Amino acid sequence: MSALAPCYCGSPKPTYWLNDGHGIPLCKVCDDCREAKLKRYRADILTPYETDGEPIEPDYSRARLVPRNDW
Ligand SMILES: [Zn+2]
Repeated sequence: MSALAPCYCGSPKPTYWLNDGHGIPLCKVCDDCREAKLKRYRADILTPYETDGEPIEPDYSRARLVPRNDW
């Protein structure tokens, strides 16, 4: 068995994970279909999200579990 499986698009080129701006895997792509698959997502998918005081980091829930004394 080869470790390099052909891409879903039919290209024999090696695949790799396409990550968004936060390093979250979107889908597996190769050089041939990367652009096409990117078009299915927002144009700014590769840009880190605007946090604007509202954290979207995966570990944000931990911060919210910290007891707040000013309530
Ligand atoms: Zn492909």
